[in-house]
Amino acid sequence: MTIPSPPPPLKRLGQHFLIDPNIVRKIIHEAAISPEDTVLEIGPGRGVLTGPLCELASQVIAIELDKKLAAYLKQVCPYPNLDLKVGDALEFPVETLPPGTVVVANLPYYVSTPLLFQLLEQPSRINRMIVMLQLEVAKRLAAKPGSQDYGALSVLSQYRGKSRVAFKVPASCFRPRPDVESAVVTLSLFSGEKEDEPFSQLFTQTVRAAFAHRRKTMVNSFRDSGFLMPILQEAFDEARIDPKRRAETLTVQEFITLAKAIHLRSI
Ligand code: SAM
Repeated sequence: MTIPSPPPPLKRLGQHFLIDPNIVRKIIHEAAISPEDTVLEIGPGRGVLTGPLCELASQVIAIELDKKLAAYLKQVCPYPNLDLKVGDALEFPVETLPPGTVVVANLPYYVSTPLLFQLLEQPSRINRMIVMLQLEVAKRLAAKPGSQDYGALSVLSQYRGKSRVAFKVPASCFRPRPDVESAVVTLSLFSGEKEDEPFSQLFTQTVRAAFAHRRKTMVNSFRDSGFLMPILQEAFDEARIDPKRRAETLTVQEFITLAKAIHLRSI
């Protein structure tokens, strides 16, 4: 059988394919996949990670948006434990994954932040993520209050887990080359089994509303997001947080205290 040639890369889908076998080896090593693991791969592309993952894991669920690329991948990566889904990863029901799933992906950068938000919401399903990100997003994950990089992604990722930049990856390791620097990050999620689901949702809402309008004070930002003023005022008082502060000055612990005070008044 002749090996088909891959479709040309589509820039609008963030198609920057890894071409350096050494980086592939390092990602696979970092992922430390066991034979019983289920792996979720977002954007398998031409399968440079998919093949090694299928060799190591019990099953690999891979979601690819580009139909032509998915058809190519089916031909070059015919593993029986590969469950290839054609569609948008943002619409994938992460809550249907088996508990303990490991996410391994060279993420499409144009959509990496909403994908991370979506995955972070499922700590009872996802054990850890080993993901290639633009360096700028990798820095946001670990950013501290008061820094320029600190935002909703920092608070939610630090509340739900612990991230570490495993290694940086130069643009020369991709074809076509991206215009930004990249890094592989490991994000280990704290087990979400005991998490109170309504509180967890409210925590996410609180953090996202606080950062929704970065230039505004928090109280104005919350009001614009539909939070009720009487509840907010009492909650800020109880949490001993000045409502005129800006979201980027609050620590993760302060966000937890504030969200708990709002939660108490909303049930
Ligand atoms: N894993 C391959 C690699 O490392 O060479 C490809 C990585 S490339 C950076 C990102 C991949 O994500 C592309 O194959 C692209 O078609 C796919 N993609 C883009 N948007 C997507 C989406 N919303 N859902 C699923 N896959 C997507």
